[in-house]
Amino acid sequence: MPAICAAASGRWQLAEARRTVLVTGGAGFIGSAVCRHLASSGRWCVVNVDALTYCGSLAALDEIAEEDAYSFHRADIRDEEAMLAIMRRERIDAVMHLAAETHVDRSIARSAPFVETNVLGTARLLDACLRYRDSLPVELQAPFRFHHVSTDEVFGDAGADGAAFSETTPYAPSSPYAASKAASDHLVRAWHRTYGLPVVLSNSTNSYGPWQYPEKLIPLMIGHAIEERPMPVYGDGGNVRDWLFVEDHARALERVLADGAVGETYIVGARSERSNVEVVERICDLIDARRPLGSGASRRSLIAFVEDRPGHDRRYSADPSKIERELGWRSEVGFEQGLARTVDWYLANEGWWRPLLQTQ
Ligand code: NAD
Repeated sequence: MPAICAAASGRWQLAEARRTVLVTGGAGFIGSAVCRHLASSGRWCVVNVDALTYCGSLAALDEIAEEDAYSFHRADIRDEEAMLAIMRRERIDAVMHLAAETHVDRSIARSAPFVETNVLGTARLLDACLRYRDSLPVELQAPFRFHHVSTDEVFGDAGADGAAFSETTPYAPSSPYAASKAASDHLVRAWHRTYGLPVVLSNSTNSYGPWQYPEKLIPLMIGHAIEERPMPVYGDGGNVRDWLFVEDHARALERVLADGAVGETYIVGARSERSNVEVVERICDLIDARRPLGSGASRRSLIAFVEDRPGHDRRYSADPSKIERELGWRSEVGFEQGLARTVDWYLANEGWWRPLLQTQ
């Protein structure tokens, strides 16, 4: 039976048809897309919990901010008592956990925040969930769900010709970021096995789209191309990623949360592998077509190959057959279409990303 959905105004509204999900990290890039998708679906009430670190942005939630099906709490997942209090107050049915430190380069510069949030924070959040689940009436305990949102980077380097990652691929993380996410995946499975917490996990490929902080490859390159600054590409630019449009990702996460089998993991991928240099060249061409340089030159001349990132995985490749077969999800937005939409969004929203790009 669904719980009661709390309106943003503090009113309580009976929502027989909706379940209430606490989304951690809902002011981030993917989390905000998830909140927008779920709150406007008619199927969920969304309780967004985010600490608003440097990359959290409430502007990404403006379009749902006034909806009864949405509320926001500023809190830190490392604060177990605060998280438990929100769960009790909002009478949640499920948690979708996205809050994390996410930028590989930052993890290489300083690993501590990654261990503290991604590892210790996830453990504290799991404990809060356990206490909350155990305090529920018996009939609400079994339907409770904890969905852990993770990355395919936990599997390490697929190698130029290696097989695509599946749900049984052994873990071999390369960066401090990937290692901290791998640790959090293990914690989630341990809480399931030891305490019977009903969990589902997803490991997704690289996402892109509107509202991504301009430190990540695609928005960083779009920003530099628009500003006509050198576009730094690591190594020879041959590193390959499978690019997943963020709205497809949000739909996949709903499928996993709603219908994933307890204890199971689902790989989410777009079957859309591209090398970094291919992606960057395409960005140049899209922006040239929309905002030609006065000189008539191509922005490809701005591409500058720089010293490679230490431990840089050559290729990630993910096989989404299981989620396609068992949950009926597949990516719908092709890379060309998704990248064009992303470029158009950044061209139309310079007021959001330009001040952030200056700090890079
Ligand atoms: P993001 O960096 O854009 O957002 C992270 C959010 O978490 C921010 O809003 C931040 O304020 C919040 N946060 C950070 N520490 C917190 C804390 N201690 N307590 C509460 N909130 C905190 O990240 P993203 O790219 O949207 O990624 C979201 C999740 O998806 C992460 O767990 C990431 O590992 C995973 N993931 C990302 C990708 C990708 O390509 N971006 C791919 C696969 C998986």
